[in-house]
Amino acid sequence: MATILTAGEAVARIAYLASDLVISVQPSLATDSEFSTFLRSYTQRKAPGVVSKDLPEVEAVRHNADPLLSVFQPIRNGKIVSVTANSSILLPSIPHLYKLAQYPVVIHVSLQPSVYPDYSEITAIRQCGFTFLQSDTLQESQDLAMSAHALALKSGKGVIHFFNGGNLGQDDPIPYEDRELLKQLLDVDAARRFQSTKSSETTIYADDGRIASLSVVGSVAQVNASPSSPSRPSQAAEKVPSTPVSANARSNSSTASDSSHRNSSEGSGRASSLATSIESVTTRPVTFEDIDRMLNGIWAIIKDATKRSYEPFSYTGPANATSAIFLFGADSALFGQAIDEATSNDVFQKVGIITPRLYRPWIGLKLLSSVPKTVKKIAVAEQIRRKTTKWGPVLLDLLMSMKGADLEAGRETPQIVGYQLGYVEPVTVRQALRGIFQNLMSEKPLQNLEVGRSQGPNLQEQDYVLEQPDLENAYMKMLRQVFGDRLHVANQLRKDDAGISSQLAANPEYGFGKLIARSEHRQRFINEVKEVVKTRDFTTDAPNKWLKKWALEAEDAEKANATASDVIMRLSTDGSPAASKLLASKALFYREANWLIGSDAWAYDLGNSGVHHVVASGQNVNMLIIDSQPYSEHAAADVTRRKKDIGLYAMNFGNAYVASVAVYGSYTQVLQAMIEAEKFEGPSVVMAYLPYNRETDNPLTVLQETKKSIDLGYWPLYRWNPRAEEKGEENFQLDSERVRAELQAFLKRDNYMTQLMKRHPQFAANISESYGSEVRATQKRKAKDAYSKLLEGLYGAPMTVLFASDNGNAESLAKRLANRGKARGLKSMVMSMDDYPIEDLPSEENLVLITSTAGQGEFPQNGRAFWEAVKTSTDLDLTTVKFAVFALGDSHYWPRKEDKIYYNKPGKDLGARLLALGGKSLTEIGLGDDQDPDQYQTGYSEWEPKLWQALGVDKVEGIPDEPPPLTNEDIKIQSNFLRGTIVEGLNDVSTGAISASDAQLTKFHGTYMEDDRDLRDERKAQGLEPAYAFMIRCRLPGGVATADQWLKMDAIAQNLGNETMKLTTRQTFQFHGVVKGKLKPAMQAINKALMTTIAACGDVNRNVMCSVIPSQSQFHADVYACAKRINDHLLPSTTAYHEIWIRDDDGKKTQVAGDAVQDQEPLYGSTYLPRKFKITIAVPPHNDTDVYAHDIGLIAIKGADDRLEGFNVLAGGGMGVTHNMKKTYPRTGSMMGYVSKDNIHRACENIMLVQRDHGDRKDRKHARLKYTIDDMGVDVFRTKVESYWGESFAPAKSFHFTSNIDTFGWQKDENGLNHFTFFIENGRIEDTADFPMMTGLRELAKIHRGELRLTPNQHLVLSGVPDAQLPEIKELLKKYHLDNTDFSGLRLSSSACVAFPTCGLAMAESERYLPELITKLENAVEDAGLRHDSIVMRMTGCPNGCARPWVAEVAFVGKAYGAYNMYLGGGYHGQRLNKLYRSSIKEEEILDIMRPLIKRYGLERKEGERFGDFCIRMGLINETYEGKDFHANTAEEEEEEE
Ligand code: SF4
Repeated sequence: MATILTAGEAVARIAYLASDLVISVQPSLATDSEFSTFLRSYTQRKAPGVVSKDLPEVEAVRHNADPLLSVFQPIRNGKIVSVTANSSILLPSIPHLYKLAQYPVVIHVSLQPSVYPDYSEITAIRQCGFTFLQSDTLQESQDLAMSAHALALKSGKGVIHFFNGGNLGQDDPIPYEDRELLKQLLDVDAARRFQSTKSSETTIYADDGRIASLSVVGSVAQVNASPSSPSRPSQAAEKVPSTPVSANARSNSSTASDSSHRNSSEGSGRASSLATSIESVTTRPVTFEDIDRMLNGIWAIIKDATKRSYEPFSYTGPANATSAIFLFGADSALFGQAIDEATSNDVFQKVGIITPRLYRPWIGLKLLSSVPKTVKKIAVAEQIRRKTTKWGPVLLDLLMSMKGADLEAGRETPQIVGYQLGYVEPVTVRQALRGIFQNLMSEKPLQNLEVGRSQGPNLQEQDYVLEQPDLENAYMKMLRQVFGDRLHVANQLRKDDAGISSQLAANPEYGFGKLIARSEHRQRFINEVKEVVKTRDFTTDAPNKWLKKWALEAEDAEKANATASDVIMRLSTDGSPAASKLLASKALFYREANWLIGSDAWAYDLGNSGVHHVVASGQNVNMLIIDSQPYSEHAAADVTRRKKDIGLYAMNFGNAYVASVAVYGSYTQVLQAMIEAEKFEGPSVVMAYLPYNRETDNPLTVLQETKKSIDLGYWPLYRWNPRAEEKGEENFQLDSERVRAELQAFLKRDNYMTQLMKRHPQFAANISESYGSEVRATQKRKAKDAYSKLLEGLYGAPMTVLFASDNGNAESLAKRLANRGKARGLKSMVMSMDDYPIEDLPSEENLVLITSTAGQGEFPQNGRAFWEAVKTSTDLDLTTVKFAVFALGDSHYWPRKEDKIYYNKPGKDLGARLLALGGKSLTEIGLGDDQDPDQYQTGYSEWEPKLWQALGVDKVEGIPDEPPPLTNEDIKIQSNFLRGTIVEGLNDVSTGAISASDAQLTKFHGTYMEDDRDLRDERKAQGLEPAYAFMIRCRLPGGVATADQWLKMDAIAQNLGNETMKLTTRQTFQFHGVVKGKLKPAMQAINKALMTTIAACGDVNRNVMCSVIPSQSQFHADVYACAKRINDHLLPSTTAYHEIWIRDDDGKKTQVAGDAVQDQEPLYGSTYLPRKFKITIAVPPHNDTDVYAHDIGLIAIKGADDRLEGFNVLAGGGMGVTHNMKKTYPRTGSMMGYVSKDNIHRACENIMLVQRDHGDRKDRKHARLKYTIDDMGVDVFRTKVESYWGESFAPAKSFHFTSNIDTFGWQKDENGLNHFTFFIENGRIEDTADFPMMTGLRELAKIHRGELRLTPNQHLVLSGVPDAQLPEIKELLKKYHLDNTDFSGLRLSSSACVAFPTCGLAMAESERYLPELITKLENAVEDAGLRHDSIVMRMTGCPNGCARPWVAEVAFVGKAYGAYNMYLGGGYHGQRLNKLYRSSIKEEEILDIMRPLIKRYGLERKEGERFGDFCIRMGLINETYEGKDFHANTAEEEEEEE
């Protein structure tokens, strides 16, 4: 039989069964309480409750986030709520307790610390109006938990059930109590009545007069109407039957208890529905007699069922005992056992023990009746550690009970003696009892004797464990970085603070007090120094001079700290007593950076006073308040839990520095705010955002939540310095650029709403919503009516086309369909589903619905409300409506077979629902599939004719031809050499975007328009345009930059981008997050750094790459010169770039639009190339540039003089592929032959020209050089190039590659200069709290005089450091941990593209995920003994292949969010393509495949055998011989062919 081992489980189970909602208070969301694991398991098992109509809910709340605030809203909405918590929440919750006492809430409290709890937390709240029940054994904890719930429901009043879980854990296991008994105990009728009521109370501050009351029927009201005069419990109470009171009321029983009935509402005279029409009904507050009577009834039921009986006071001991001990606290079982075992020599033999079960209301008479008449003396032992009165509260209770009690005959008033009970161990319990009873028996017993130890064992360890979530350490690390040794956090967790519990020491108010004391201490020290200076008591002269200087600057942190060490040094050599005295407090010479750390608990009412005290004090104290509430949680938040805006609160004070920051939003801004806060003389409040749902959330989730919150204005980044004006600066700095407009709009609206609410207070909280919905409804109606009006003049049948569209395809299809309908004479109207007034649906004649598919088979945003209405409506009658549905989706979007149902689900659901509502289908549903040759158009072109046929308009003559869609080729031709309307687009401030055709053209200028994918859905939901921003890619041949250029790039990223830089796989700088307004300044800044961006993207020759070869400087110089020559030779000639980006804005110098400027493009012509074109140079033996993977790959050949002689030329390499489209494939370059170095640019030019003229310009998926060569044949192509060029390729020379990865660490070149290759994971240069890499590199660039070279594997080489500068450089490297290259071989050889959040083509994460995946594989690598072995692993977010995945030994290519195709068998030095091994696999499967494979490789590989080769030898994958063979003999067919 299942058994219960702990009180936590016993109580959690009953709370769950007896509630609609359990508020589970936990130390942190990642740390369980003694109840929470059980509660969670019930929820997970979906265990049914006893009183809840649906499944009971459990809500976890942090202990310091004002947990009882969570009770109000649900309980007022008729939910039966209970709370499981420990005693630490009670005192801070006192204001809530007084109000909640009048609701039937049950709070189960486990006393803390569990080994030696402090009962003062109970006695301190004894007057709050709750009923208090105490459990002393494990069995009692279950029985009294049931009693508590039953009593709360019956009485309508709150019950606190408390117990010492630590003691109860020693008891024998108990069985689970039968649900039936609980059902019997709980007044289910009362529960239902409560659940059906809604309370109108809203305030949680003021007393609203609510009093739990009873409806009393007929004359019975008089029976119990004597609240002030305690009476003996009536016999009737003892006879309370075992059925709920209300049920008996119906049977007209005549007992007092049967005829009263609880009224759940305040002071209302509402009669119980059970009252008969002839009886009069009155209400009165619930009295202590009612509680006593109800509890007796409850306990009678328990006794009937279990034979266990309970009384308000429990007495154990002989019936003729003459003395007894009243225990409040301590382990009564332990005391009981000692008394039982007492011998005649023991003074405590045959004494009784009294313990309270019903602590409040305190029914003194019950106490007397429980204790034998023979008892003459009672010792009252209270375990109250925080004593505020001379006499213990329980002692006073007893004294009051005895005083003037109406004693029965033969009973004397016992003598009462109070004791303070300390910690009593099993071995000292006899000693304690002896002390107590010897005193008690003495003639003049002493009051208030202390018994036991005042300190419990290992208090700190036993204490309730507070945890600072790991995530929040980010801010702590930054504080340490900024302030170093000066940092003093006054309320730091886990910091030893003698004699203070860790909970108290972490309390901000405590910390504040400590800081004040510290600052006063230092002030005294300063005064002391000033005095000492006057006395000149030093042996030497120096101390006086330095101390004077120091005393003047003591309050200026920078100056005082700079002088401090000098002062200390002078004092140390002085040797005088005066000097020694000062040195004893030498730490005070430094001025600390004083910080208090708090959580968003301070934003709730109960914690807010902490902020208030600090701000109001005006003291120079800095507060860092970490807010972790995610945006999504905020959006769904319970209104009564709404937090105070601490920032605004502090700003209103006017004397505080306030900043709102987010480490995952802007690292730099956090640093800035921390420094400014510390400098500010006065209180500073830094509100730091770090949203997470669970402390175990990974950083990516936190980053995404942060971005959403900042972008949507929920967490704007700003800094407020009330004294900035004095320096002529703005007080308020808004640092989150993008929200500026939205924030302003919000403020305006907020202001308007405030006015409105003032005028119409009755609408109060609901006004904004109802106003908004009203406006939306009116807008819908207006739009529809306007449309109808427009259509009035037209003839023909009506056709309403409604669309739901996320990416615009469904919308443009709908609009095109409506236009075509018009051409066929139909009165067609088109609008988004959510703009359509749903009530008009039944009056439609012909309805066409076009929807795409979002997320997990969901409706796109602008169709969700429509679908909800259609889905849930029961009164839509569509019997006269004819409809057709076309759905757009991707049959391969969902990798798992069981998820296939999501393919086009919205369209299918809609069709089925309209049929169910009586609609008639015009034609069967059309399914557009992105996997079809023409994507969704394939299905659409079959479906549309059927629709016209069904509508009878298929044979209409004379329909005009539609213009063909604009192609990229058209855009290029019409652009006037890449001008288009880019300038107009840049000047349009109404949108963050530029037009679609300009977006194609800007690529040629080196910039792509993107939108932040992390924010896309949320912004759509808010009706905002996507968060557009631009990526800028520099053109940097060979990846060589000077240190000065690095600093300039760094500044661009900081000031104009998103504070990060990407070093790309094409050896260049890439900036992301540049908003439109900053695009031109960024371009100008790049050009000022003597770089350009022209032709960094687009259908032109891109950045020419070249090996970095740090060890051969001379050879590098030769090769690099060629790379530059080729780069410059193939640059486009258009002047549009300079016109648009570089020239001044005065409008005079140039005319940018129109045809006024006629450029010439001698190499490219007006249509440029059919597709992008890439050239790279590799220097054997390192193929670090992946020479086979580019349109042209040049292999440098050394001459006899060790100088560059020429190149072997490869042509036709390329990576881009489309999933499931076998006509696309990656390809390695084909050998053309050898060309001398002087001629190489001409050879490249002519290869490019053949591609220009023969590349496929109709199908961009077939336009790369690789297809041109395969279509022509390699030899024909070579001949064609030679005929263009007029020269021939010589036979290729021999070469040998050994790897395609970088060599990390220091290398020396032949000139004696040093080069250091950093490991920059996936090329991302950024600062994080753990690793301020960007700052480190900036500091390095400031002193470095050589170059910084970007490697094609996205790493970085500090190039050309002379020996003399080595120590300085090495020290800096060490300081910023930049010298760390001690990573696994797997990580060092890995590479990922950007993908989310900026790349518009990404289907899955890449750069943000690969590092995590590698971490998960590193154990396997270690176990296999492969830590130092390199396995080339690459990942990309889509098959475009930016990180060149197809030549990696193992690759993962994004297929859908979280799903990847896996490829194996690539050549170690990039010479061989890999092949599909598994399609659409998720992390779990990846790990399941990779871990054993790595192990096997470790065990079974041959000497020197590479991973890719091993996979082929083992037969895991077939070898890929060439591009055309890529899709053949794969290990798994892609799903379309299944
Ligand atoms: S491979 Fe795809 S997802 Fe990755 S950056 Fe390139 S286009 Fe974007």
